[in-house]
Amino acid sequence: MDREQFRKAGYAAVDRICDYFEQMETYDVVPKVKPGDIASLIGDEVPEIGEDWDDIAKDFDRVIMPGITHWQHPNFYAYFPANTTFECILADMYAGAVSNPGFNWLCSPACTELESKVMDWVAKLLGLDSTFWNEGKVGGGVIMGSASESCLTVCIAARERYLRMHPSTPFSELVILATTQTHSLAAKAALILGLDFHAIETKQENDWALRGEDLEKELASLEAKGKKPFVLIATLGSTSTGAVDRIAEITAVTAKHPEIFLHVDGAWAGVMPALPECRAECFLDDINARASLPAEDGAICAGGEVHSYCCNLHKSGLVTFDASCLWIRDRALLTTALDVTPPFLRTPQAAAGLVTDYRNMSISLGRRFRSLKIWFALRSFGVAGFQGHLRKLNKLAELFEHEVKTRLEGVDLFAPRSFSLVVLRVVDGSSADRDPAARLAHENALNARVIELASADHSIMLTPTTVGGYNAVRVAIGSPNTEEHHVVSLVDKLDRMVKQARTDLAK
Ligand code: PLP
Repeated sequence: MDREQFRKAGYAAVDRICDYFEQMETYDVVPKVKPGDIASLIGDEVPEIGEDWDDIAKDFDRVIMPGITHWQHPNFYAYFPANTTFECILADMYAGAVSNPGFNWLCSPACTELESKVMDWVAKLLGLDSTFWNEGKVGGGVIMGSASESCLTVCIAARERYLRMHPSTPFSELVILATTQTHSLAAKAALILGLDFHAIETKQENDWALRGEDLEKELASLEAKGKKPFVLIATLGSTSTGAVDRIAEITAVTAKHPEIFLHVDGAWAGVMPALPECRAECFLDDINARASLPAEDGAICAGGEVHSYCCNLHKSGLVTFDASCLWIRDRALLTTALDVTPPFLRTPQAAAGLVTDYRNMSISLGRRFRSLKIWFALRSFGVAGFQGHLRKLNKLAELFEHEVKTRLEGVDLFAPRSFSLVVLRVVDGSSADRDPAARLAHENALNARVIELASADHSIMLTPTTVGGYNAVRVAIGSPNTEEHHVVSLVDKLDRMVKQARTDLAK
């Protein structure tokens, strides 16, 4: 393709993208394809001779579109959202044009300097304390591809920190600590690092959040077994129910265990502190609080405080996938653990300490130019637009919650609404005298059946969850295209599906 062909194809692609958004509601949310259907439309080898662009472009519609699940669809309520915006689509085009791996400042000074700036912008937007900002040169933010990558990266830094405090500890004693509600990213970090993983059970009476007393008990039990927990992955907005771990209670405990690094995974709800009215629910003050005891070694930040925080702007944060933001209060913990500088990566600017080389805060060397899309989106939406989007999602969830409570018979909220996530459980109101085990099994079957019916419907997408042995139905509102009437019609659909599930199971 030459430049003039690109110009023409580019205009056509933008038209196609606009049509896609215009026609969004004519698509099923979930495609009606079977495993292998799409693969069967794709050749087995690279074509010997290059093909015409027109043929390639047509195949986006012929081959790919039939197999796309439409995450931007207003009736997409599964998992957590993956917002996209036109500003970010354009940014990705520009980033593609200047394609470069941005690992050192010298690779592209703009990539590094924009990343440092936008990470401070976002930190300020969320109200994160200045100790997390790049501006201060002690803490700082770095853009990752995923919350899983962010978690793995801080676990490496936390291990380094622990080993500096307790140098001869065998790896076999080290433990990554999380809860049964922590996303699987923590178990995966342990798997990758070859370390033990331990999940603390959380309780329904605590809305599935981690409390200080549970942490304290678990630490005592691990200590008795000779285990050395060195990092705790706490959650702001758990995947299943949106639970928010009690940060102040946790830091009160970790203050007595300064060797424990505390990471807050706010992959989904970590953007919510951008709304002043949500800050208390996010425990932002507790996330920002500094430990009362200073660090014993100035280079290792103190125990009893949050050491790092992650949120994915690519979920509800108006930034196209991928943009996982990670902030750490002591960036030297990352650079000590991750700086490997062969001669060919040395630069005079880095040697003089004038610049950040983001490769030293990341696992990979090469990195995508993600800051551009964050910059474009935040400039275009502004604080007011960003907040307006989140507020709208939370209001829609509030409306959905109200509709469920007033219109759906025999459906309970399984957990309190968490921002824009509502989790339901269909209950068996008809037979109060049923034995509890049979009742639980029946209710679990009802909830599973509702999910089956929703999946067969294709016009909405929901995901199930199981917490503490209870099956439940998650409704995560997050598309910028969802409006009140979509939410009301979702409740109508759920009403029919719940009734159908009861009839099916009565047979
Ligand atoms: N943490 C939480 C709470 C999540 O809900 C998710 C995914 O939905 C993740 C982490 C994983 O995010 P990522 O795909 O960015 O690794």
